[in-house]
This record gives sequence, structure tokens and C-alpha cells, in this order.
Amino acid sequence: MSDLKVKLTAPNGHTYIQPTGLFINNEWVPSSDGKKITSINPTNELEITSVHAASPSDVDKAVSAARAALNTSSWRDLPASDRGKLLYRLAELVEAHRTTLATIETWDNGKPFAVARDEDLTEVAETLRYYAGWADKTFGQVIDTTPDKFAYTVREPVGVCGQIIPWNYPLSMAAWKLGPALACGNTVILKPAEQTPLSILYFANLVVEAGFPAGVVNIVNGLGRTTGAAIASHTGIDKIAFTGSTATAREIMKMAATNLKNITLETGGKSPLIVFNDADLDQAVEWAHIGIMSNQGQICTATSRILVQDKIYDAFLEKFKSQVKNISKVGDPFEETTFQGPQVTKSQYDRIMSYVRVGQSEGATLTLGGRPFTASSDKKGFFIEPTVFTDVSSKMRIYQEEVFGPFVVLARFSTEDDAVRMANETTYGLGSAVFTTDLVRAHRVARRIEAGMVWINSSNDSDWRIPFGGVKGSGIGRELGEEGLKAYSQVKSVHVNMKAKL
Ligand code: NAD
Repeated sequence: MSDLKVKLTAPNGHTYIQPTGLFINNEWVPSSDGKKITSINPTNELEITSVHAASPSDVDKAVSAARAALNTSSWRDLPASDRGKLLYRLAELVEAHRTTLATIETWDNGKPFAVARDEDLTEVAETLRYYAGWADKTFGQVIDTTPDKFAYTVREPVGVCGQIIPWNYPLSMAAWKLGPALACGNTVILKPAEQTPLSILYFANLVVEAGFPAGVVNIVNGLGRTTGAAIASHTGIDKIAFTGSTATAREIMKMAATNLKNITLETGGKSPLIVFNDADLDQAVEWAHIGIMSNQGQICTATSRILVQDKIYDAFLEKFKSQVKNISKVGDPFEETTFQGPQVTKSQYDRIMSYVRVGQSEGATLTLGGRPFTASSDKKGFFIEPTVFTDVSSKMRIYQEEVFGPFVVLARFSTEDDAVRMANETTYGLGSAVFTTDLVRAHRVARRIEAGMVWINSSNDSDWRIPFGGVKGSGIGRELGEEGLKAYSQVKSVHVNMKAKL
């Protein structure tokens, strides 16, 4: 087998062909400087395989391919309905390859296989289908002015789009970004996170099989500071869409300023979940658990601060602790009953453990967890016990900073005003949740919370049909839903002079 693909057998016994090259112009090519990145299985810390890492000159090649594709008639002149058909076909292929894609995702990322298969892959296929439907429904307007003028707008693609994605939902993040970009007729250079490069390379083969013309989708793995920076600063790229940390988003924004790129950023969060005295307590507990402990706590919208009203605080805490103990089964992600797999990398594991020490030194009470979890006799794998801190105040770092793990802080409040003030007391503004049976209060509080999204009596039940994104330090722009299309098309205004002569 060539250096550009390798036959692998995953821990669940599933054998498949893993592409390992750069995907440029519908072809697999090696990196120009021979550099590679190695993917590690977070469950046992063993190497899975290595993939080619794009140098800045490889990014140049991908940009040339994407630019050429933008101007070839097979893409530029393709009827919008046919762009939709390509996306539908891609969604069907994702369904057909669901087991392989979910296997790779679990192996490389550590997320439970049942979640990857049933939730992530469903979201990938549905997001692609959703945007397939939009492809021929994004058009301009005729604008009535005076009898002497006929004015209309057309919606055009932004152009060549650089998409830089994180490791927590590798395939879903790719689908969120590729769906609207391709529906609107753009071309793409997508950079997966260096921690999880594998599933998207397999997905690239499906892009070819679906029939997308060469150069429309290009996938280049590599490190953020080389490949990512080459994309963010490239003057041949018209738009950057990024999901990841707020610190990296700041760097990207600066680099994107070189040619005033159109930009969307989806960054971190420290989302509050507020439980009022009148809430359905059992439901609040279940959602609060899902809201922070799903996906090993590696969710940008994780409801990582739970604010509970005085009267029910103790009852909530007892029930929440039982829920964590009973439901958060930590272990081998290929076991169907596992709720929580390993953290994605050693550095994420270390980072979370360091926040346990921060919380203790700040005087918060470590109520549950906070230790490494031993999943196997060799003590390998980046497993962490689900961790709950109480007696937390808003001045503490564990209240303010994104931990990105199965790590939650609880604080109590007295009045609605307190709850809103405490919810808004961070630099972030991504998700938020409110639990109450008082309809009027639910909507009143939803208005007052500084966040891009509010869940009333649920948490983290996002949907591809509904806009997703943040305010404050949590980002710029929206993905998903009809709103997500706005980032990938631009409006041209055409003024037609209907007067015979001046
Ligand atoms: P990161 O923001 O550094 O990485 C995200 C993506 O950006 C990756 O593809 C990476 O290669 C790329 N990147 C990194 N530096 C770059 C640069 N200078 N120029 C261009 N691209 C660059 O995130 P991380 O280091 O993997 O994780 C650190 C923290 O970020 C996490 O602990 C978490 O708090 C947060 N995070 C948030 C999300 C989210 O969904 N919002 C996802 C992953 C991580």
C-alpha cells in the first residue's frame, strides 16, 4: 500500500482503508516537506497512524485548486439544484459509511462509539441534507424604488473559504461548515485539528464519490501554527470560518486582517444553567448532567456553571451527585454502555487536572471526582473522574475560565436579579439554560442573559435548523439554520436605469 493510504483494524475489529495524504484537487498527495503528524488513541495512548501535514506551499496548492474550481464551469455554472443534489448524495454516502466513520471518530477522539454512530453521524448527514435543501433557495430580491429604476440583488458565493475546525466533533464541525459553504457555491480548504485528523480524510473519499468537481473541497491536515496560520493569513482566501479557543480566534482575526477576510468565529464558553425554586427538579438534574458531562465535557456550549436558587440548592446537589455517580460510566469508548470516554489528548487531560488544583487552591470544595480514572490494568488512557466543585464564587478562575472537561461548578443565588447578574458575569456568551415552570419568568430571563443561545428547560439540545453562535468572547457570526447561509454568500446590488436618457 502506498504512503498515502494504510489498511487499519480498529479496536472494535473493524478493518478499513485509511487515507493519510493531503486531499487537494480530488487527489491524494504527499506533503511537500515530508512532515507528518501522528494520531494517538486516547484510550491506550498508542499510535494509530501518521498523516501528511501541509506546509505553507501545500496550502498554496490547495488555494490554487480551490480558486481554479471557483472559476470552472463545472462548479460556477452548475445549477443550484444540482449543487443540492451533490450534497444529498454526500449525505447518503455518510449514512452508508456510518459504521466506519463512527469507528474512526471513536478511535481517534475517544468519544463513545454509540454517541459517534447515533448522534454525531446523524447530525453530519442531516446537516448536509438540510443545506442541500437550501442550495436553490438562496436568491436575491427585486427592490421597488422609482419607476425610473429597476433594482435587484443577487446572492453570490464569497469565494475560497478557509475552514479551521477543532477536535471535539471532527465530522460534525466539518459538516456545519461544508454544508452552507457548498450550498452557496463556494470552494473550500478545510483544516482538521491535528489531534483528530483521520475521520475527515475518510470522508474526503465520499466527496469524490458523490461527484463534487475537483478543487471544490480540499482537506489539509497540519499544525495550527503552520498549516492553520498559512490558511488564516493567505491572501488568496476570501473567508475564514473558525471553531476553537478564544485565544486562537484572536490570532486568526489578526492574520485574516491581511486582506480583510470575511470572518466567522465560534469560540469558547462558560455557559450558565440556572435552576429556579419552581423548576421540575428531576428534569433539571438530568439536563444539567447531560449539559456538562456529555462528550467528556468537551463541548463549547457545555453548561459548566450551574446556578441554583437557595431553597432547592441542597436537594439539587444531592440528586445531581447521584446522577453523576449512576450515569457517568467512564471507560472504554467502544463499550456500548460507556457514557464517558477518555479526554482527547494528554495535554487536555493535564489542563483539566490543573484546574482541579486551581479550584482547591481557590478554596472551593471538591465535592466529587477530581482524580484520574483508571480504566485498565496498565493505567493507560486520558480518563478523568467526573468532577463537581461547590462553594464556588464568581471571582474564582474555575467559575470564569473554560475548562473543557467533565468539570462543573455549582453556586447558589437568591433572586432572579442575582441569577441574571451571576450568569452574565463572565467574558463569554455562548449557551445558557433556564429551568423554571414560570412561563413569563422563563422568557424574561432568556431576554436578559448575554448569550447567543438559551435553552428553556433543557440544555445543549441544539439542532442544525436553528442558528448557533455566541456573543462577547464567544464569537462572531452564526452557523446552522438559514442564518448560517449569510456567512457564505454576499449580496450584489444591480441598479438598472430605466429612463430613456438624462
Ligand atoms: P485551538 O483553538 O488552538 O485549535 C482549534 C483549531 O485551530 C485547530 O484546527 C488548530 O490546529 C487551529 N489553530 C491553532 N492555532 C492556530 C493558529 N495560530 N492559526 C490558525 N489555526 C490555528 O484549540 P486547542 O488548543 O485544541 O484547545 C484548547 C482549548 O480551546 C480547549 O481547552 C477549549 O477550551 C478550547 N476549544 C474550544 C472548542 C470549541 O468548540 N469552541 C473546540 C476545541 C477547543
